[in-house]
Amino acid sequence: MTTSFKEFAELCRKVKNTSRRTEKTAIIAEFLRKLTPTEAEIAARLLVGRIFPEYSELTLDVGFSMIRNALANISPQALLFEEPVTIEEVYQILTKIAEAKGENSRRRKERLLTSLLSRLSEAEREYLIRSIFGEVRIGASEGLILEAIAKAVNTKLDTVRRAYMFLGDLGDVARIALEGGEEALSRVTLTLFRPVKPMLAEMSYSIREVLREFGNIAAFEYKYDGVRVQIHKKKDLIRIFTRRLSEITQSLPDIIELVRRNVNADEVVLDGEVIGFKDGKPIRFQDLVKRVRRIRDVWKLIGKIPLELRLFDILYLNGKVLVDEPYERRWKLLESVVKDKNMLAKRIVTGSVEEAERFFEESISEGHEGLMAKCLKSKYTPGTRGKNWFKIKPADTIDVVIVAAEWGHGRRRGWLSDYYLAVRDENTGEYLVVGKTFKGLTDDEFREMTKKLLELKIAEEGYVVKVIPKIVVEVAYSEIQQSPKYKSGLALRFARIVRIRYDKSPEDITTLGELKKRYEMQFRYKAKVF
Ligand code: ATP
Repeated sequence: MTTSFKEFAELCRKVKNTSRRTEKTAIIAEFLRKLTPTEAEIAARLLVGRIFPEYSELTLDVGFSMIRNALANISPQALLFEEPVTIEEVYQILTKIAEAKGENSRRRKERLLTSLLSRLSEAEREYLIRSIFGEVRIGASEGLILEAIAKAVNTKLDTVRRAYMFLGDLGDVARIALEGGEEALSRVTLTLFRPVKPMLAEMSYSIREVLREFGNIAAFEYKYDGVRVQIHKKKDLIRIFTRRLSEITQSLPDIIELVRRNVNADEVVLDGEVIGFKDGKPIRFQDLVKRVRRIRDVWKLIGKIPLELRLFDILYLNGKVLVDEPYERRWKLLESVVKDKNMLAKRIVTGSVEEAERFFEESISEGHEGLMAKCLKSKYTPGTRGKNWFKIKPADTIDVVIVAAEWGHGRRRGWLSDYYLAVRDENTGEYLVVGKTFKGLTDDEFREMTKKLLELKIAEEGYVVKVIPKIVVEVAYSEIQQSPKYKSGLALRFARIVRIRYDKSPEDITTLGELKKRYEMQFRYKAKVF
């Protein structure tokens, strides 16, 4: 049985045209059920705008201009003479495109693409191109596809989710589901030399809140600003993978040597951070990345940028998968296999806010990023960002001026409690809004702020009171995002007032230029290739 790409495009259209999640899931499940395992693997990825699995080395390298050229070269009659293209054929041709390397590869890629596109109808082309650009826009998230897979093979969603946690690829999950159903899915687990996505953390600005969340006791570890690595070892064979599952073994002979000498286990999977030091201080992240990505002449750099390892978790030991063991037990096992204790993340276990705060200061003063707080009882959940790990970093703050405020409701009735925050456009002098917040002030401060803002009132429209830009506040935020909503083009995520800066005037506040710079920096930092 072969399924045509036309049927896939029709599926996409149907999914797009229904807004109800349950219906979307049902339509996709129905479609997947009829596919061969290989087709299901390809289709599941295409639905979320992926062609190859994340761990694959293959990349298409097809940009907008190549697509435009390919479309321009299509012969209008081509479709009339062709057999319908199958899903598998599409995948094979895309693989050839990705594999085209070396001289004339762009020409070969373009030719393959042109011939593929000319065999597709307009609707089919649309969905193929959308998948290539990773923006299918049919409202099918990874979570929804997992539900559809569970439904297609009549399996518990938990089983599918767990398999996904270990495989990290929807295509692999779909294939295994169609090949062997629930039984095969429940056999999926962590295996040596097949890396899993690392567990991630949520952001917290408050040690007190973290302790409350974790039942007044937590492990606090230094948060190192390095490169996350997953190390797989079987006797003398040691391989290292990044958080995006690509292998960097070749670039890290010194780390391999450290592991060989200091890790006392036949078979083990370890999680940790590679960091570099210079004159006793951690080196900049950018320099570290250069070193870690280097493949040629690595030996030359070893003396110049010496690397170290800080391990903080163990996922597998001598035939036993440990992800369901509580963190505290995993830590004990980790300690038992690592000979050199310097190779472990520095940590304390405490219920005291003061002690944790001192530890935080210590980490910062040694040049690290802050702390990671971990719940002692927590399992290791690959690929998920949850509330069992929190990162605690010094908050990023900027100074902004309040240009308007909204009347509060509920407990905040009678107060101006939601503030429009603006930076200064240094070219025009205009104050441009970059976000809103009602967080961070005490009740007394709200009362005082309301009084002051009313004195500065310019106009009132609905429940918004416009004010003369005068009161400067320092706000913390988790991220700067692009925003079409604001004229400034930028918006602060999770803004929170840290303090009212009576000592500053609106001329002193953060400028739009500065905010843009921070946005770019953050971008560069976030676009970590690892
Ligand atoms: P960030 O940009 O802050 O590093 P992230 O999105 O890369 O965050 P998070 O899960 O939010 O990842 O933060 C945890 C990251 O911090 C890990 O991916 C790891 O690279 C790094 N890290 C440093 N020290 C530790 C530690 N002791 N435990 C866990 N992760 C640590």
